[in-house]
Amino acid sequence: MIIRSMYEIRPAARSAGRPPLRSVGAMQSTPPGAPSAPSPVVARVEALAKTYGSGTGRVAALDDVSIGIRRGQFTAIMGPSGSGKSTLMHIMAGLDSPTGGRAWLGDTEISALGDTELTVLRRRRVGFVFQAFNLVPTLDVSGNILLPFELDGRRPSAEERAWIDRLIDSLGLRDRLRHRPHQLSGGQQQRVAIARALATRPDLVFADEPTGNLDSRTGREVLALLSAASQEYGQSIAMVTHDPVAASYADRILFLADGRLVEDRGRATAEQISAFMLAMESAA
Ligand code: ADP
Ligand code: MG
Repeated sequence: MIIRSMYEIRPAARSAGRPPLRSVGAMQSTPPGAPSAPSPVVARVEALAKTYGSGTGRVAALDDVSIGIRRGQFTAIMGPSGSGKSTLMHIMAGLDSPTGGRAWLGDTEISALGDTELTVLRRRRVGFVFQAFNLVPTLDVSGNILLPFELDGRRPSAEERAWIDRLIDSLGLRDRLRHRPHQLSGGQQQRVAIARALATRPDLVFADEPTGNLDSRTGREVLALLSAASQEYGQSIAMVTHDPVAASYADRILFLADGRLVEDRGRATAEQISAFMLAMESAA
């Protein structure tokens, strides 16, 4: 299962070698949560690069990207297809390794971790919501929501149990707990995926095109739920999307083009975001 692999299986790309370490001095000039920072960051990348292939087949999926994701915010990462959004998300989530630069989750430098440590980090500190929902078909709704705990070999504490109960109610899943994914609509499946992503109260939830398989009304419901998780529970969320409507739910929007960060702006309407995307594409 893909979702199991997010939490369980070693990503093959990890064996491709570690990025070169930069000098300690360079790192200390901008530590996470430095007093000069406008607001604390939950994750950041510095001078991130990712290249695929070599020679004439060489593709720079990411080229010198430095960003911080602010704690408690709902951040959208936008850009045309092939701009490097998924590559950036996979590196920030510890699913793939950079070929240059460094990545941190909180104070943990994930680009320096080995496979086993990354697997544990993903289980305990990161949540995932995907376009294809990625629920385990043989598990019911309850089993899917509890999967991160199951894979971590533990049961939720009483406090965690209360939190999960609250999520189940607020996501409208109470009467679906014994249903399996194929018995649910797309919108319901994505709500289960959101409950699973929020269940462990991760440092950061990554959502990759979470509305891509939903009709527009159901998609807007899912976006409103993600936005509420950030506003009401202070959940940090990084959402990759190419959809201006989806990005209009975010507090902040980062734009990628050809593997580079080209714009970092606050909340905007779908119309404003569309206009910016069009201008960006015609300038390219
Ligand atoms: P996005 O998510 O914005 O559509 P991606 O991060 O998936 O973009 O891809 C960025 C670039 O890297 C694209 O040119 C893509 O073709 C290339 N790429 C992504 N993954 C691989 C891979 N495994 N091997 C070779 N090229 C890749
Ligand atoms: Mg993608």
